[in-house]
Amino acid sequence: MNPWVAKMVVLAATLTMIAVRAPHGRRSRNVKVVRSHKTSLETGLLLLAWIGFFIPLIWLASPVLSFAEYPLRLGPLVAGVICLVIGLWLFYRSHADLGTNWSITLEVREQHRLITQGVYRRIRHPMYSAMVLYSVGQALVIPNWVAGPANLVAFAILVSLRLHAEERMMSEAFGDEYAEYAARTKRLVPGVW
Ligand code: SAH
Repeated sequence: MNPWVAKMVVLAATLTMIAVRAPHGRRSRNVKVVRSHKTSLETGLLLLAWIGFFIPLIWLASPVLSFAEYPLRLGPLVAGVICLVIGLWLFYRSHADLGTNWSITLEVREQHRLITQGVYRRIRHPMYSAMVLYSVGQALVIPNWVAGPANLVAFAILVSLRLHAEERMMSEAFGDEYAEYAARTKRLVPGVW
């Protein structure tokens, strides 16, 4: 299949992701942070996430990664588009449910509320589940050994190194309320983990 199909899918998915995130990024600047847990590990993880985000765009716009290209097939393309669509829907819903409590890093904001409803009802990290699904989608859609898995590697590292620190921060901020929430929910996959 013509790799331009994959390029159009990746472009549309990237623009959708930016459109979902942008208003939250702008709004969060106006909500005061009362406690920041932005360690040097967090800074490194955010940098890694940016690199994972940009490598597919380099593949999209230039031939520098063409040495790692392989033929695009219909099966992985369709499976990838399904993952991207579900991932983007969950990404949108988790931003809508978190509202002003969202931060790009580990922070507790003024009047922070613990969200336990909507997509937060059964799992504690639906936004991370969304990002993992999205990056699995990219790995399937992009027929390139470097650009395909770039986001997945970055998010897998980010999620595995951040979850524990984030849950500790939320426990300190919300005490028993968070303990009860954690007891009745899973982390990333409803009913599984
Ligand atoms: N880990 C969550 C949120 C990612 S955004 C998810 O994957 O959906 C990261 C910020 O969200 C953290 O700094 C924390 O302040 C906030 N946060 C995480 N879980 C929350 C919850 N259940 N309610 C309110 N804020 C939450």
